[in-house]
Order: sequence, then C-alpha cells, then structure tokens
Amino acid sequence: MTKAPTATDLASALIQCPSVTPAEAGVLTLLDDLLSPFGFEVHRPTFSQDGYPDVENMFAKISGGEGPHLAFAGHVDVVPVGEESMWQQPPFCGAVKDGKLYGRGAADMKGGVAAFVAAALRYVETHGAPKGTVSFVLTGDEEGPAVNGTVKLMQWAAERGEKFTDSVLGEPTNPNSMGDMIKVGRRGSQSGTVTISGKQGHVAYPHLANNPVPVLAKIVEHVSAQTLDEGTDFFQPSNLEFISFDVGNPAWNVIPEQASARFNVRFNDLWTAETLGQFVTKHATDCLSGGAFKLSVSLEADGSEAFLTRSDSLIDRFSKAVETVTGKVPELSTGGGTSDARFIKNYCPVIEFGLVGQTMHMVDEHVAVADIEQLAEVYYEFMMQYFER
Ligand SMILES: [Zn+2]
Repeated sequence: MTKAPTATDLASALIQCPSVTPAEAGVLTLLDDLLSPFGFEVHRPTFSQDGYPDVENMFAKISGGEGPHLAFAGHVDVVPVGEESMWQQPPFCGAVKDGKLYGRGAADMKGGVAAFVAAALRYVETHGAPKGTVSFVLTGDEEGPAVNGTVKLMQWAAERGEKFTDSVLGEPTNPNSMGDMIKVGRRGSQSGTVTISGKQGHVAYPHLANNPVPVLAKIVEHVSAQTLDEGTDFFQPSNLEFISFDVGNPAWNVIPEQASARFNVRFNDLWTAETLGQFVTKHATDCLSGGAFKLSVSLEADGSEAFLTRSDSLIDRFSKAVETVTGKVPELSTGGGTSDARFIKNYCPVIEFGLVGQTMHMVDEHVAVADIEQLAEVYYEFMMQYFER
C-alpha cells in the first residue's frame, strides 16, 4: 500500500491545482489517484442545470463491515485570486514559509480537506478499513451558486442507498486559534422585497396621484424598529436589514407609481421563511392608513432555513477529540454565514470544525502548518473514538 501523506503536503498539492470555482483543474484527479490505492471506491458525478455551470463532484468511501457511516464533507473549489500582483506569494504556489502554508484555499478549505483525507488515510493505514464506513463528500460548487454541488451530491448518494450516520464539515470555524469553536448549526438567511403601489401623476397635481415613496419610507423605518426575538440558548437574536430602497424614477415632475425596498434577514430557529413573510407583511400593513395603496411582500426562492444539530453523541465526542488534541473546550456556536451544512442536515446530524479562518478569501491566504497538522490530529482522534465504540 502507498503511504498516507502528511496533511500539509497534501494541502500544498491541492493548492497547486488552480480550481477557481467551478473549475476542477486536476484537484479531484489528484484525490482520486491518492484514494483508490487505499481501497476507496471513488465516484465523480457531474451535475448540470440550465443557467448554471456544470460541476464535477466526488463521493469516495471505504467500508470495513457493519457500523456507522461517517461522512467528511467539504469543497475543493476556491474563490478567485483578485489582483494577482498584490500577492507576496503566488496564489497557487502552495509554498511553506516561516511555518505557514500559502495559497488560495489554504484556509478555505483545501487545508481542511487535506486534514480529513490525511487523517482517514492514516487510520486505514494503521487499523485497516473502519468497522462501518468513512466517506468524503466533496464538491466544486460551494464558492459558486451552490446549485450543482453538495445539495445534489447528497441526494445522489442517498438514491444509491447510502445511509449517513453523522457528518463533519471541514470549513474554517476557529476565529483565533485551534480549538476555539465548533459550529453546531447555522442561522437561516432569507431575502425579500416590499413593494408599494400608489398612483402615478404630475407633481404639480398631487391630489390626483398617490405617492408611494413616503409610505415606503415609513414602512422601512417601522419594520426596522421591530424586535424579531431575543435570541435563544444557541442562537443570537434574529435581525432584519433593509439593504436597498428602489424607486427608479428618472423624472423630476412625475410622482412614481411604485416604490420597493429589499431586505435580508439572518434568523434563528424560532422563524421560518413563511413566518418572516407574515411578520414583514403585518408590520408593513401598520403603515398603510386607508386603502389607496397596494402592498406586496415577496420572498426570494433561494433562502435557507436555520437549523440546530441536536445529536449530543456527535457533539460530545467531537468536543472531546478537540479537547484531547488542543487542550481547549470548544465553544458551540451557530454564528456566521451559511454553509453547505444546510444541505447535509437533511440527511444526518452535522457539525463543522476546521482551521482558523482569518485570511480566507484574502490576498496571501495562509494557515499555520502546525494548525493543519493539529486539525488532522483532531479528525484522527475523533475517528478513533467514533469507530472503537
Ligand atoms: Zn469554504
């Protein structure tokens, strides 16, 4: 059998594939060539949808008989490098300098992918295939539209009869140092538009028109002033922000027919898209005196629901592994933006733990070599506990 690579060497090799979303750029072939000799069954489905780029993904697994199925999940695509001349280290060099590994994706999240692949290969090398299944759910469509990636890959795997017990997503979750934070859920995100229709007319004859602009201004102020909730044990308070006020009227002498304002809500598990829509409609209606204006509240279709992972056995065992390796008891958090965990949670409990995220998406993205190796150690320790139970 070939030898398991170190997490740092593997991360460096992955960084050298310029897989700017949605390009594969050799990164899945590299993993395929690495995993197959260890006995992994590797699949590389490409998913398509009108209006979106085709994306190649990977599902790889190894089974050593009856037992739980642990899926490590992540993405191998990266965001563009921006102004390349700003980089001190070339963005796809994967070079190690002064104890740091440099390159686009070092933190987000080729370092995380390399750490769980290296940990699993070390496990297989040392103990053979686990009693159960270890799999890798890897997409090239996380930094892109997220249409032909994890959402379809999980569905594809489930249709093939894969039953996932637990999942660990390797996104960077630590704000400052390794062991700070495990994500055990995520807030939801929902965008929408409030539109007020009045009656168009001449500015000189306002009694013949109905101006929607002052009404919309009142709505924006009134809805913004509402408290959605006070937060919960695991979630911060939900928050609604108006992000745009649009009339689009080029004339100075015309009262416009319509005005609209767009908003985005980051919300906890006390809310759904439906109840948020009702909330905005109710408080916007408060601002309509009389029936001369028409209100409509529409919600975008691509919102995501909030979720909280309620598997104590997964959270406790993973926290224990983090504590054993880093000496710290990690905070359990649901903060930050959304991630592909929102697609995985429909199949099994999912938590997120990865590298320190400070330089993600930045120029000269880098991570400490010691952090990558420690992350691989956490994943390895977790696998030891997970499969020896
Ligand atoms: Zn990421």
